[in-house]
Amino acid sequence: MNFSLTPEQEAVQKRARDAAQEVKAKAVQLEREGRFPRDILDHWAQAGFFGLSLPREYGGGGQDYVSYALAQMELAQACPSSALMLHVSHSIFGMGLHQFGADSQKRRFLPPVAAGDALAAFALTEPQAGSDPSRLQTIASREGDGWVLTGQKNFVTSGQIAHFALVAARSDASQAPQKGISLFIVDLKITPGVQVGPVEEKMGLRGARSVSLEFNNAQLPADSLLGEAGQGLKMALALMDHARVGAAAQAVGIGKAALNAALAYARGREQFGQPLTQFQSIQFKLADLAAALEAASLLTLKAAWLKDQGRPFTTAAAMAKKCATDTAMAAAQEGLQILGGYGYLRDYPLERYFRDARAGQIYEGTNEIMRLIIARELLKGG
Ligand SMILES: Cc1cc2nc3c(=O)[nH]c(=O)nc-3n(C[C@H](O)[C@H](O)[C@H](O)COP(=O)(O)OP(=O)(O)OC[C@H]3O[C@@H](n4cnc5c(N)ncnc54)[C@H](O)[C@@H]3O)c2cc1C
Repeated sequence: MNFSLTPEQEAVQKRARDAAQEVKAKAVQLEREGRFPRDILDHWAQAGFFGLSLPREYGGGGQDYVSYALAQMELAQACPSSALMLHVSHSIFGMGLHQFGADSQKRRFLPPVAAGDALAAFALTEPQAGSDPSRLQTIASREGDGWVLTGQKNFVTSGQIAHFALVAARSDASQAPQKGISLFIVDLKITPGVQVGPVEEKMGLRGARSVSLEFNNAQLPADSLLGEAGQGLKMALALMDHARVGAAAQAVGIGKAALNAALAYARGREQFGQPLTQFQSIQFKLADLAAALEAASLLTLKAAWLKDQGRPFTTAAAMAKKCATDTAMAAAQEGLQILGGYGYLRDYPLERYFRDARAGQIYEGTNEIMRLIIARELLKGG
């Protein structure tokens, strides 16, 4: 066993740390003003993060997924909204095309996504299909060589500004719910019949413009089908595994940011004639969080490493996602408490970490679903 990073992984980590530092103040300001973090996305695009683990031949950086997880742990400390948009574009759309796409699809869609010139989204969730995507009702019907999409998708991260989306739809209604689902690549900017809903008023991650997308007889060309027809749910679930490693890495980032802010505050704040750091109850909170974050980080890197080795990582990704997002929430919760009343004010960072961390326990599959995945593995063969 070797816990050392390679020189390449260390270099990515340092680059991401710098890129996070450079936008940290801007991220606070944009969030407060409710503005879209375009500058931050552009900055990270120029620094090469949108294509980090995508193949070099399609404009990516060719780095392993451990490097990507390390980068997310840094970037999410500065701007979790931008880190999430980058993640959906890179690890669901980008890696989805890389893993399942035809060469012509990769040549068309990957270079702009890897460069960060085009943001990409993932549209799986529907009003009646959240944790159970097999019940989705969006229909893809054959028309000539192509397809026609009809239905509604909810919670589409970056949906307001994305150029492309990977959309799951039922292409064969005669099949059982789990079968007959396909994935389609949709160019949101040129496809007629795509209606973008208003930006959702979210509690946190407000920069990541989430919307509903409506498809009203949206006409798709024949080459919009990703992989084989009827294999869409299987592909979507495989992509969720990548996505959960990234979600875990983001959560580690938010958790570390919360811990660092609480530690800095506790050092400077005096009560009863001494800094808060002298109180054992405060030290114990800080120590518990540091230990839990280290564990979450190791689980996340292990899941990324298993993926890099081509080994099964579904259970490891579910464990990492559950532990890291619960730990980020604990860090935000306890960190806020360490700041006392000031933690509750928008002028201090804990309030935003608290709101941003909360979503991690829900997206890319709720933590109840993570427990189901872990339990399924435990109960196998018993
Ligand atoms: C910030 C954010 C970004 C998102 N981005 C995207 C995106 O880009 N694309 C996309 O497609 N979706 C996205 N989602 C949607 C997200 O994936 C869903 O919200 C999530 O899968 C849960 O679905 P639901 O909200 O319909 O809840 P439901 O499935 O209705 O679940 C409600 C509650 O019941 C629990 N529950 C459900 N089934 C079970 C079960 N079998 N056992 C135990 N408990 C269960 C859940 O854990 C939850 O607590 C996003 C959500 C958020 C909040």
